[in-house]
Amino acid sequence: MRAMVLREFSSPLRMEDVPAPRGGPDEVVVKVRACAPDMLDVKTRAGQSNVVLPRILGHEIAGEIAEAGASVKNVRTGDRVAVYDYLNCGACEFCWNGRETLCRNNKGIVGLAIDGGFADYVKVPGRNVLPIPPDISDEAATTLVSPVSTSLHALRERAKVSPGDHLLIVGAAGGVGIHMVQMAQLFGARVIGADVSDEKNEKTKKYGAEAVINTAERPFDSSFDEAVMEVTGGGGVQVAIDLYGSSESLAACYRCLDTAGTLVRIGSRPGDRLEIDPDALTMKEVVLTGCRYNTKEEFHKALELVRTGKIEPVVSFSFPLSEVNEVLDKIERNEVFGRGVAIL
Ligand SMILES: [Zn+2]
Repeated sequence: MRAMVLREFSSPLRMEDVPAPRGGPDEVVVKVRACAPDMLDVKTRAGQSNVVLPRILGHEIAGEIAEAGASVKNVRTGDRVAVYDYLNCGACEFCWNGRETLCRNNKGIVGLAIDGGFADYVKVPGRNVLPIPPDISDEAATTLVSPVSTSLHALRERAKVSPGDHLLIVGAAGGVGIHMVQMAQLFGARVIGADVSDEKNEKTKKYGAEAVINTAERPFDSSFDEAVMEVTGGGGVQVAIDLYGSSESLAACYRCLDTAGTLVRIGSRPGDRLEIDPDALTMKEVVLTGCRYNTKEEFHKALELVRTGKIEPVVSFSFPLSEVNEVLDKIERNEVFGRGVAIL
């Protein structure tokens, strides 16, 4: 089968002809139809993820069951599915209490710990596939896996957003961000979207952001804070979500919190640190937290939100598997609005 293989860090993925995977009794083999690259793939290619090479990358996957092991009961050959890419144990207290992204025995992510979806076929545990209905396309299904589901996890569980809240999203035009902009409106929040260009910000406005900040012009310094304070009447935001994840963006998010505000870190950069004025923890009771991916329950909710038109999957372009490297380059340069999806 065709596969885009990473053999050396900081080198392009190479198109190779490799043996197709064979599944065990509790595994499925998925014929990949669509797979979306994201920042994690960029970091992995650069050697910033925990991965043993060679590895086939790609973790936002939709396709069709080609082979289901004898013990797999939730899907059959021919079913269309999306891949839930967190390799959890299903047996620890966090897996049992609905917080499976904190699994004590997490084995990693598809496309990192095991081979991923930039290939004709991918093998995953049977419990890691979720059927998708006929009215959701393969391209749209790739956005359920992380962008839509993670937005729900961040806003409902981590930020506990309330109607009327001002919500700052740094990285609002990216793959997760643009779905979070939409999700925030379902919670009745008022979005301030921050991203690197006017062009991206204008598109973000079309998806409902009330205000936007160009972070190339206001690079997380006092001018960034002023823009946030202007929109919020000087009070700051009730929730700040950092999808970019640099030391500078995190610090700016923290400074822009209102009393009792919550900062949720999602994105990360090598070596990022957060230095805080700890007085705000006591005097303003601000909350610092993070968002680690999403649960299967949230995946099901995401599917319904997309199916019923409440959330529009933002796939701005599609491309052939052979062009994954070029798209990873674009993601690295912050040039992709929403998601680009490889079609196989
Ligand atoms: Zn577990």
